[in-house]
Amino acid sequence: MLGIGDLADGVARSVETLGAQVSEAFFEPVIRLGVTGLSRAGKTVFITSLVANLLDRGRMPQLRAAQDGTIRSVFLQPQPDVTVPRFDYETHLAAMTGPAPHWPDSTRAVSELRLSFKVQSAGLMGSLRGVRTVHLDIVDYPGEWLLDLGLMEQTYEDWAAEVLGRISSRPEAAEFLARAGGVDPSGAMDEQMAKGLAESFAGYLQAARKAGWSDCTPGRFLLPGEMAGSPALTFAPLMKPAGSPARASLWREMDRRFEAYKSRVVKPFFRDHFARIDRQVVLVDALGAIHAGPRAVEDLRRAMADILSAFRPGTGSWLLSLLGAKRVERILFAATKADHLHHSQHPQLTAIVSALLREAKDRADFAGARTEAMSIASLRATVEEEIEHHGRTLPAVRGRLASGRQAAFWPGELPGDPAQLLVPARQGAEHWLDADYGAMAFLPAAIHLKPGEGPPHIRLDRAAEFLIGDRLS
Ligand code: GDP
Repeated sequence: MLGIGDLADGVARSVETLGAQVSEAFFEPVIRLGVTGLSRAGKTVFITSLVANLLDRGRMPQLRAAQDGTIRSVFLQPQPDVTVPRFDYETHLAAMTGPAPHWPDSTRAVSELRLSFKVQSAGLMGSLRGVRTVHLDIVDYPGEWLLDLGLMEQTYEDWAAEVLGRISSRPEAAEFLARAGGVDPSGAMDEQMAKGLAESFAGYLQAARKAGWSDCTPGRFLLPGEMAGSPALTFAPLMKPAGSPARASLWREMDRRFEAYKSRVVKPFFRDHFARIDRQVVLVDALGAIHAGPRAVEDLRRAMADILSAFRPGTGSWLLSLLGAKRVERILFAATKADHLHHSQHPQLTAIVSALLREAKDRADFAGARTEAMSIASLRATVEEEIEHHGRTLPAVRGRLASGRQAAFWPGELPGDPAQLLVPARQGAEHWLDADYGAMAFLPAAIHLKPGEGPPHIRLDRAAEFLIGDRLS
């Protein structure tokens, strides 16, 4: 059922397409900001810190509307979508900035939060227009769910053959492959067998994700949310037996469940959440992939290309018909956790993210969306420090480890030319030729926030300016 708020939003949005001026005079505009990225990319930390830094804007000089006083106040509001879980901002912020700072629990499913801005610009126009309210609905959802878009155009037979081919040499898949090899797909459907196969396949996906693989679909197998254990999530890839499998066979039932997954899981997500997004940030843990090695980088590149295909649906695709004329207007690609690097290496990181996305970007310009790449740290956990090593001065960072000990860290020198990483990755190299990139898990630093200050970050204000700045002026 639609509430009054939903109706008002819907009307506001359609009027906005006719003319923003008209809608602003009568309605309170709503910006829907999607936040996505693969698991552990940094979505939860990003949203928590962004919200805290929008509520207390002392560390947001690059957000123009905050700097020049256009934003009069910001407050959290009950969100309009009553069926979507609320993003647990308070708990996450308490984890990050409390007396024993630690990282919050990660994104498991879609969630939402509404921030409302009271804005009034300076000058005559400002006083004529008075104080306006702009709502920002932040929608957090796993990037793995976007990867599922690829399944929509595939049959079970094609999907299963492709997955089985792709994972055949991965050690993480050995247990599942042995189990799948031991069943007769043309035999009678058996629920226990289906369950065992699905669990084993889900186990493989979890292990693959931990090992640094990004192509871990179906997305709900990794992050099932409220659908855990349902038949639409109880299937696995099996080779099609010769001939035409009987109706009651294991293979036919798997085929039926795959189709149910598409229509009951993937489609509703795109319809109810994705199709309503105006601005999007895609978070990328590029440093993590670089640390894991060339194959993880290549895999990340492919996964990002797949994720981005959702933002430029092909002609005739079902997504295009679902979206109609609606498009995401701005997309920010942000390399997260940049506080693992001294600032002198941030341009290299940004260049790597741009290059990772270039191919996907070049194929189509996201149907007119403005795009930008950036390196950010949502919560800065380190300070910069120069360290001496074998007679060289290295630009490093220092932070707190899980043991409580402080440690300085230099991850290695990122190349100025991203091709030095992306080319070997594409060629299937096993290791980086002449470099090793370290990783270190720092805990959030203990912080004492002054009144009016949000948590420390790197470039979160620039990210906010790109994503929503124009709508706050
Ligand atoms: P999600 O799965 O995308 O929601 O990822 P999270 O936001 O939970 O982040 C995953 C992990 O990445 C966190 O537990 C932190 O260890 C790390 N992380 C995220 N953001 C930052 C950051 O800004 N700085 C640092 N140093 N680590 C971060």
